[in-house]
Amino acid sequence: MKNSNSKHVLVAGGAGFLGSHLCDALLSEGAHVIALDNFQTGRKQNLRHLEREPRFDIVDGDIIKPLPARLRSKRLKIDEIFNLACAASPPHYQADPEHTMLTSVVGTHNLLTFAESVRARFFLASTSEIYGDPEVHPQTESYWGNVNPTGPRACYDEGKRAAETLTFDFDRAGRAEVRVARIFNTYGPRMRADDGRVVSNVICQALAGEDITVYGDGSQTRSFCYVSDLVEGFLRLMAYEGSFPGAVNLGNPVELTVGDLAEKVLAMTGSSSRVVKRPLPIDDPRRRRPDITLAKKLLGWSPRTSLDAGLKSTIAWFSEDHADEGRAHKV
Ligand code: NAD
Ligand code: UDP
Repeated sequence: MKNSNSKHVLVAGGAGFLGSHLCDALLSEGAHVIALDNFQTGRKQNLRHLEREPRFDIVDGDIIKPLPARLRSKRLKIDEIFNLACAASPPHYQADPEHTMLTSVVGTHNLLTFAESVRARFFLASTSEIYGDPEVHPQTESYWGNVNPTGPRACYDEGKRAAETLTFDFDRAGRAEVRVARIFNTYGPRMRADDGRVVSNVICQALAGEDITVYGDGSQTRSFCYVSDLVEGFLRLMAYEGSFPGAVNLGNPVELTVGDLAEKVLAMTGSSSRVVKRPLPIDDPRRRRPDITLAKKLLGWSPRTSLDAGLKSTIAWFSEDHADEGRAHKV
């Protein structure tokens, strides 16, 4: 691995919520960064503050297609590739399920072969969704999961499972050095107001005085990680120098019910919104909490930001004129 000052990094999905924070973190370490994105759910405004940054560039392109010529230039040097490209919110990834599946399978394959050809280390942003509706709790990396292969979430869950398969196969064949993070629900500034995920929905609804939508009876659980903690985990996992450690869970093990999250946001915003119940989406996992023993041992990583502190900064961000962006175009 190159030292970070001379490192050249490609971030697929770099205009998205997590990708844009990762670009910031890499640049602050001194790396040269190219964000590759088709702007399906990502936004130029997430990267606008980097417009004048000489070590940063944006390439418009879809990873399911042949990579743009600029990236295939013989002179281009790439040391690391992060594959974060894939819509992550259920309404967004279900809007075009075929594209979601192809993004994970064809897109990941394209980036893996690119990593092989330029000898870059490859990082896959996988997901806790590969555990499906888990029968093992908390979820350890050794659990194989309980996924419905044909339901409306399958395009994402099975796509990511196949992306992991491809990534592990490239490692087994010695074709690329790889890292795989299984990311649990993450939140923070730059989530889209029309993202559809629970944290952004509940905060935007509370700030607008609208009804807070809790799906089902609100007893399902999730464990929410603040974005800066997650990005720190990404950097440590990518920099890990041992042999391929397999997939590594990254998330915050503090678990709470969706109903409790809604009540917490109501209290923190002082909103007079009321909580309304809406039907539980098909195959919505009942509970989810990461076992992060491996990340602690391997990377010395664990999240530092409490839910209260993370929600406070996310609420503050949405309060600064970001809560209405795109909400008229909800999917
Ligand atoms: P996001 O939707 O904000 O970002 C995804 C980015 O990928 C967007 O910029 C989008 O335009 C781009 N993209 C989508 N398909 C593409 C394609 N075919 N070609 C090029 N670009 C494409 O989502 P996010 O929350 O930032 O998630 C980033 C990654 O992390 C995703 O791979 C997601 O599966 C994974 N992940 C996120 C979470 C989370 O809680 N945020 C949890 C688990 C996994
Ligand atoms: N959810 C909810 N209200 C919303 C959006 C989501 O109650 O407005 C629920 C959803 O059904 C799920 C949990 O919150 O049980 C987390 O949903 P999200 O889409 O954020 O993440 P994922 O389901 O992918 O973990």
